[in-house]
Amino acid sequence: MTHMPSAEGVLYIVATPLGNLADLSERAREMLASVDWIYAEDTRHSLSLLQHLGIHKPLRALHAHNEAGLEAAIIRELQQGRQMALISDAGTPLISDPGFGIVRAARDAGLTVTPIPGPCALITALMASGLPCDQFLFHGFLPAKSQARIHVLQDYVEAAYTQVFYEAPHRIIATVTDFITCFGTTRPAILARELTKRFESWIGQTLGDILIYLEQHPDEVRGEMVLIVGGLSLKASDAAAISSEVQRQYHILRAELPLKQAVKLTAQLCQISKNTLYDWALSQDENKEE
Ligand code: SAM
Repeated sequence: MTHMPSAEGVLYIVATPLGNLADLSERAREMLASVDWIYAEDTRHSLSLLQHLGIHKPLRALHAHNEAGLEAAIIRELQQGRQMALISDAGTPLISDPGFGIVRAARDAGLTVTPIPGPCALITALMASGLPCDQFLFHGFLPAKSQARIHVLQDYVEAAYTQVFYEAPHRIIATVTDFITCFGTTRPAILARELTKRFESWIGQTLGDILIYLEQHPDEVRGEMVLIVGGLSLKASDAAAISSEVQRQYHILRAELPLKQAVKLTAQLCQISKNTLYDWALSQDENKEE
């Protein structure tokens, strides 16, 4: 059901800079200056941003540990006509940050939630990564333990799209090592560090490069990081998997069946990756049409 904006209060979800304060939008500044109060993940941290902007508004804490408990009160305040903003420590609220429960509850109550867009580490990293941005998957943070991390990664080894991960500096070497275990050293990848800040840097072209660089430059294993990993392309994949025998089987089936079914059956018969075969089969069909 679609709710029309109500005459009640408004919850503004406001993106704030990742590091460079000049990235705060004019609209964000205006909204923060106009609301009744601001919910912030860490009020001490946000106080310095607001002081810098010359904005003096009451700050209230909203973080992972109190979010659920605040839900009912925030909805009541909105119903009473209050205007409030939600910000996180940096970037876009709700993206690996608190706020989802409140937005969900406000929407369920038919209240107005207005986004004030701005910086977000995943988009900032992706758009300058040199890796395809037309299709991507954002994972946020992977599990902290290696075994659980590998378990997750194994499901995405054959994904053809770009994948974006947040990671903490104290885990990055272990995480890149796990990526290499699953994706191999040659998979295209780039590590974006300290985006929009003075020491912004970009490391590597492949997973192997990133690991070598980090091991050789322990002083740079710090700061905030986004890891971007390219999708599996047919070139990078095990082209040998499409052996002449596999091709023969596929062509026999393709003569009788639609492409998807022919791929599925060939993959089952030959016990090879359906995704790899599918990419190859598509290229066969495209070549035929030319
Ligand atoms: N909501 C934020 C956003 O819009 O990107 C992300 C919050 S999440 C708790 C923090 C993680 O975002 C960091 O561990 C890092 O992976 C990434 N991040 C935040 N700021 C960054 C920056 N300036 N450079 C690189 N990565 C950053």
